[in-house]
Amino acid sequence: MGDLTCFNGAVILAGDNLDAVRGKALIIQEGRIVEIGDAPAGARLVDLSGMLLCPAFVNAHTHVGDTGAKELGIGLPLTRAVDPPEGLKHVFLQKVTGTESHLAMMRHGLGEMQRNGTAAVADFREGGLAGVRALRKAAEGMPIRVVALGRISEGGSGEAAYGEACALLEEADGIGFRDVEAIPEGLAARLKRACPSKIFAAHAGEDLTCERRSQAVTGKGQAGRLADWGPDFLVHLVHTSARELKVLAEHGIRGVACPRSNGVLGDGLPRLAGWVQQGLRFGLGTDNVMFNSPDLFREMDYASRMTRGVEGDSTAIDSRLILQAATIEGARALRLDADLGSLAPGKEATFLAIDLNRPNLTYQQDVISALVHRASPADIASMYVRGERVNG
Ligand SMILES: [Zn+2]
Repeated sequence: MGDLTCFNGAVILAGDNLDAVRGKALIIQEGRIVEIGDAPAGARLVDLSGMLLCPAFVNAHTHVGDTGAKELGIGLPLTRAVDPPEGLKHVFLQKVTGTESHLAMMRHGLGEMQRNGTAAVADFREGGLAGVRALRKAAEGMPIRVVALGRISEGGSGEAAYGEACALLEEADGIGFRDVEAIPEGLAARLKRACPSKIFAAHAGEDLTCERRSQAVTGKGQAGRLADWGPDFLVHLVHTSARELKVLAEHGIRGVACPRSNGVLGDGLPRLAGWVQQGLRFGLGTDNVMFNSPDLFREMDYASRMTRGVEGDSTAIDSRLILQAATIEGARALRLDADLGSLAPGKEATFLAIDLNRPNLTYQQDVISALVHRASPADIASMYVRGERVNG
């Protein structure tokens, strides 16, 4: 066994509940947390006085493939900005796919995420198996963990679609379906039965027109239709009814909110207070890099403020719940919670050391609220992944 290292002097946000613990050390061995307690004699000490130790973030929804198209399509509605085949995003992707510069763009996006305090990311990667391979290549050697959720080509049906999906799942961590309409009848349920260790997710309830059409044609919203086969998580749920949110919660399906993306695209806003009311557990995602900086500090801040503002109630959502969405709930959605998402014995020592003495955070009186509503990547003094310092 390796030697013990003790990070002491810091305030530690401990466990899934993110309880602020003072006067104890984060004790690690071989990159994993042994305990949060008193430093034993002889252990290597790392002084982190003045720091707040927070589990590194888990970004539950991104599209890193459009990193090279920042601000392209601002001011356009969803359909014209991102939908295939003519949305600006797909025109851009067609141009760059397969090139070295596209790999460099994706690597750049992942680097930004890491510098913003992200330990793991679930990317809805376009472009089938080749797209997943390109993402893997872009991420090579980086400390950020990439959960690659690939996409199958649209318009296929039956055995051809099943064969393509199975080949994709040989290398991808799962599938991120663009939309319920893009999934051939019965395919998702069949894949889930055949590959239970893979993650299945989809966009749902993002666009009001599509949601109304789904209700009119099938009698169900998009989320309600997807709930039948049990995906791991659904992204957006802006226009999903309270009844269907409850169905998701009852099926153990998680939500992933991307409120900044929904805001800028004029989709509407996810009613997070309603999600909580219906018992829906959720993570946070920054969605397309083309519209949103891949920065969960900004996402948390926006999620909290828009919820309180929209509900007209300053108690409409708890800051702790927002921070949990960016950490442990994201880790659970991505099935990474044995390693990531909270600081607890047995998990990876993967955390952010936030400098509470930076001018921005000096005089803060509530560390959770300060992280959600005030902190930015500039307040990260260093990031540790499995006990090793990677940033700062
Ligand atoms: Zn998306």
